Amino acid sequence: MRRTNFNYRQLAVLAARTFPLIWGLVCVAVWGCGSKPSPRLYRRSQLLMGTLVEIKVVTDHQEKADRALEAALGEIKRIEELMSRSRPESEIWKINHSAGRPAAISRELASLLEDARKIGESSAGAFDVSIGALSLLWGFEEGNRSVPPTPSELAQASRQVDYRKIELLSGPQVVIPPRMRLDLGAIAKGYAVDCAINTLQSYGLTGALVDAGGDIRVIGRRADGKRWHIGLQNSRDRDKISATIRLADQAIVTSGDYERYFIYQGVRYHHILDPKTGYPARDCQSVTVLANTAAKADAWATAIFVSGLEKGAELASKVSDIEVVIVDITGKIHYLSPALEGRLQIAQEGSG
Ligand code: AMP
Ligand code: MG
Repeated sequence: MRRTNFNYRQLAVLAARTFPLIWGLVCVAVWGCGSKPSPRLYRRSQLLMGTLVEIKVVTDHQEKADRALEAALGEIKRIEELMSRSRPESEIWKINHSAGRPAAISRELASLLEDARKIGESSAGAFDVSIGALSLLWGFEEGNRSVPPTPSELAQASRQVDYRKIELLSGPQVVIPPRMRLDLGAIAKGYAVDCAINTLQSYGLTGALVDAGGDIRVIGRRADGKRWHIGLQNSRDRDKISATIRLADQAIVTSGDYERYFIYQGVRYHHILDPKTGYPARDCQSVTVLANTAAKADAWATAIFVSGLEKGAELASKVSDIEVVIVDITGKIHYLSPALEGRLQIAQEGSG
């Protein structure tokens, strides 16, 4: 009994001594919470570059989010206006419409054309931004064809495709042969995503995701501090995802035979073309590439898709700083970069 009384007294003294301290801490915490809102997610989407562009940013200031989102979407619009092949007055449109003569271009486009040339070389011509005559003939962007072109039409258009004949001159200027047509469809969206990310960073944002129809790049973390969770679309069922992956400060882009296609006599004809044959590349359903920039991931996804299973896997293991998933035409994973093993979570129902 005496022992118990003694403990109570000690406890009372301790409580009296520590009470001001605890109370102070509680006040600071409550006051702190009230004055500094915790970061949350702001998002905005818009139809641009022929696809739905969605941008998410993590910040504690609504106004800062609004300004940054507006500017990032504006940046994607700027790239569309610069690089679209169908939009009159874009730089690509001007080059194509003055084929055979030098056309003045921006340093920005000259530098992207230089990057494209290097990827053309490294992929032995599987990636070729002079593919425009074939793109026009197939008409996937225009959506005006449901029957494949004839072999002679294809042979004629294929003869206009050769990135080595694109001449970059000082100025900068560019000259292409008279019947050649440039098409940056396999890299421009990724590049636009990079530009949007740079803009968000210039607004001081450190957590963001930019998704231009599946060309995705993230920086930092989500509002809950976790890495961004990305779902890869099932190649044969748009409503399902085949795999998921968590990312921070990386880009992920997929080229798939399901994005733009038509079926003729039971055969799928899609928009990723083999410059050597003029026909859609046949071996893969999809190729997903992770890289530090979306332009790099975008270009290599197309290049590896066109290269096919064997050469594609060889490139995937040789090119520095990319991680790759190659899904073959039956929906099976043919190649997975070692760095992705255990990181890529395959969805149970997924087939591709
Ligand atoms: P992606 O969806 O990034 O693989 O890009 C496909 C788009 O790039 C097509 O719609 C064409 O505009 C263009 N394209 C198709 N085949 C090639 C190729 N072999 N090299 C470069 N661009 C291509
Ligand atoms: Mg691409």
